[in-house]
Amino acid sequence: MDLYEHQARELLHDNGVLVPRAEVVDTAEAARAAAERLGGRVVIKAQVKTGGRGKAGGVKLADDPAAAELTARRILGMDIKGHTVHRVMVAEPVEVAREMYLGFTLDRAAGRFLAIASAEGGMEIEEVAARRPEAVARIAVDPAEGVTEAKAAEIAVAGGLPRETTETIRRLWTVLTAHDALLVEVNPLVVTRSGAIVALDGKVTLDDNARFRQPSQPSWDAADDRARDPLETRAAAAGLGYVKLDGQVGVIGNGAGLVMSTLDVVAGCGARPADFLDIGGGASAQVMADGLGLVLDDPDVRSVLVNVFGGITACDAVADGIVRALDTVTLTKPLVVRLDGNNAARGRAILGQLAHPLVHQADTMDGAAARAAELAVSAASAAADTSAASSDTSAA
Ligand code: GDP
Ligand code: MN
Repeated sequence: MDLYEHQARELLHDNGVLVPRAEVVDTAEAARAAAERLGGRVVIKAQVKTGGRGKAGGVKLADDPAAAELTARRILGMDIKGHTVHRVMVAEPVEVAREMYLGFTLDRAAGRFLAIASAEGGMEIEEVAARRPEAVARIAVDPAEGVTEAKAAEIAVAGGLPRETTETIRRLWTVLTAHDALLVEVNPLVVTRSGAIVALDGKVTLDDNARFRQPSQPSWDAADDRARDPLETRAAAAGLGYVKLDGQVGVIGNGAGLVMSTLDVVAGCGARPADFLDIGGGASAQVMADGLGLVLDDPDVRSVLVNVFGGITACDAVADGIVRALDTVTLTKPLVVRLDGNNAARGRAILGQLAHPLVHQADTMDGAAARAAELAVSAASAAADTSAASSDTSAA
């Protein structure tokens, strides 16, 4: 997961890297108040999870609190490469003498980390790297050895950074290892007019697979909840791989590949999928129950298609999950289930025994998708009839 600049700034600060004083706000009025607290003259910075904010007009200097308010008003709501700006950081401006680049990233192919350092940091770093790759040093870091003082000095020398940066280099490495990050990048890392080494920007990507060993980590993505669909927020909390789409057929399957092809087959049948939900390999009855409950709560869903090819996931566990979900959720929409593979016969028998009028079984993926599509379309036209009928009544 990528962090926002202000979140990365916090991690850097907690590990002893100098960062400008700053506040995060979501209204222009609050930006003005923050500017007053920060001494009047401030930099207003769009908080979006993409780079190149400066070039896109998302980073601006404001001379006084009134200008800060105007500037924040202009930046809030701006679209930067498809990301809407909901918050800005109001930061104390730094007098820059020199801009440098410093980052650590994982080099998967080499099974090592890579330090990247350049004396020519700032907004043109991509052009520098493309045109004069020799100006951007890349130094392998053995994860077992880490960044010793000698290693930090080697990185500084290779990148042409002043000696004074070695402490910061080691601290960035600590941020990376302590938080299980895949990327820690500071561009620009600056030398100020008074000679201090300050991180003017920060980009951190955390390894989602390491979250279990970071129990004290704040829920960084809570900040995104507003931008997210409420069903996606609920799915994330339940640990489900769910993406909301704009059609009417709820789709649940096991394995991303199978779910993707199910979406295509549904579309091929003249309907549109309402979601992507992968219950994963080895899914338990509970996961199935959670997933079905979620999809049924989507008001756009007119029918649900469960497509499971049992491998590690046993079809009888999926069927149990459906039965369990129906204990707590009243089924008001038709459900088409296709079970194949591991324990398919047992799964089908469980659903047969359930004998629910809205639960249909199909033998093939194509047959199941066609049925679910047909049921969604007829449910939609029935709903249209009802609303037409009720509007007739109200008109009368
Ligand atoms: P990015 O464009 O998304 O990487 O956003 P940055 O946070 O890196 O800001 C863009 C540029 O604005 C930086 O490369 C700096 O050159 C400049 N900048 C940001 N904050 C300050 C500041 O406090 N003082 C000065 N002089 N320049 C700043
Ligand atoms: Mn930057």
